[in-house]
Amino acid sequence: MAAAIEAGRTAPNADIVIVEKMDRLGKKILATGNGRCNFSNIGADTDNYYGRSKYFVKYCLERFTVNDTVNFFNQLGVFPKEEENGKLYPFSGQASAVSDCLRNEIARLGVKTETGFHVGIVANNKKGFKLEAKDGRVLYADRLIIAGGGCASPALGSDGSCFDLLKSLGHRVSELAPALVQIKTDPKEVKSLQGIKFDGVLRLIHNDRYIAEEKGEILFTSYGLSGPPIFRISAKLPFKKNMALSFDIMPEHTPKEVFDILVSRRDNLSHLTMEGFFTGLVNKRIGNLIAKRSGIEKLSFKVKDLDKTMLWSMASLLKDYRLDITGTKGFANAQVTAGGALTEDFDERTMESKIINGLYACGEVLDIYGDCGGYNLQWAWSSGRLAGASAAESMK
Ligand SMILES: Cc1cc2nc3c(=O)[nH]c(=O)nc-3n(C[C@H](O)[C@H](O)[C@H](O)COP(=O)(O)OP(=O)(O)OC[C@H]3O[C@@H](n4cnc5c(N)ncnc54)[C@H](O)[C@@H]3O)c2cc1C
Repeated sequence: MAAAIEAGRTAPNADIVIVEKMDRLGKKILATGNGRCNFSNIGADTDNYYGRSKYFVKYCLERFTVNDTVNFFNQLGVFPKEEENGKLYPFSGQASAVSDCLRNEIARLGVKTETGFHVGIVANNKKGFKLEAKDGRVLYADRLIIAGGGCASPALGSDGSCFDLLKSLGHRVSELAPALVQIKTDPKEVKSLQGIKFDGVLRLIHNDRYIAEEKGEILFTSYGLSGPPIFRISAKLPFKKNMALSFDIMPEHTPKEVFDILVSRRDNLSHLTMEGFFTGLVNKRIGNLIAKRSGIEKLSFKVKDLDKTMLWSMASLLKDYRLDITGTKGFANAQVTAGGALTEDFDERTMESKIINGLYACGEVLDIYGDCGGYNLQWAWSSGRLAGASAAESMK
């Protein structure tokens, strides 16, 4: 949609058509930002992006900056509101504002739309491109911009079919993986914690090294973990093995302070059993697991019998409770796709294919994805507008 708008503005006489397999344009936008559309981030920078060659985004983000995005949407009617960590939302708090204003501008520019047009085949010859929809409809074009997204959340349209189209045109597509997604752990380890929410610090461990840290509300589920910090940290998961999560349940205190707290609890609560030892300190179910991991099998164990080794073990677990990562909730639940069409096959200054003249790609279909927080849509707008402007310029 951004590509079509920029193309329409750059070449007002060009005949521009958006083809979309769903029954309307921009369905995914409605689901973004929990229905509020976190459409950009004030701090968007190369370092917020991932891909085999993430520096591919640099020129594009400088040509169509975050400020340009804010002005672009403001001009279309979407007044911005900045929230925590530089996240930008429509002031009205409605994602529909973003898709509506894009559709209005598309109509104003006279850009045509063909919905329910699921492109199944793209053929290319010297004259241009032939697009065949699965229902038999055919379209011809001098220029083609592929903006079909990845395979994340296929129910919203992006089913990965554009990777096949690009491959059929000679493009290379890297290994793909879901990102910005819930994380799976051994269900046995989290079963008893299902439904618990807690505010803590979460660290991602790869081959025994901390590689990322997030804070916020973490939710235990039947399969593993969810919540904003989990989504954010999952940006670092794709294509790595031997990953674990470490929870700091008492981030305000050092390990020695936690140990001292436990020692004084043992002394004050010496009349109790382990059943009551953690009450008022951490969620009881978390406390029970910590006691178990510290070798205390029975809750009837007397608090007064806790020795220093047991208390140190519990203090260490409260600071560093580990769960091995066994996977993610997959593309069906992911917000973005890690991997995609190799960027080295595209010109970063125009988004044009280096393999086929007149072919362009933008957004998530390329091997670029961003952190959670408005960075992915910023990439979609910047790269879409660059592709649209370049394709239209090349027609002049
Ligand atoms: C639930 C959810 C919440 C999100 N929240 C945010 C957020 O708040 N902020 C943020 O920055 N990012 C968010 N994202 C990520 C962001 O939405 C995507 O990165 C972005 O939409 C990618 O834009 P795109 O144009 O490349 O692809 P898409 O938005 O996926 O659009 C691709 C379009 O192409 C169509 N299509 C695909 N294949 C074909 C075909 N063969 N023929 C015809 N049409 C086809 C699809 O139907 C779709 O409409 C979220 C994603 C999800 C799933």
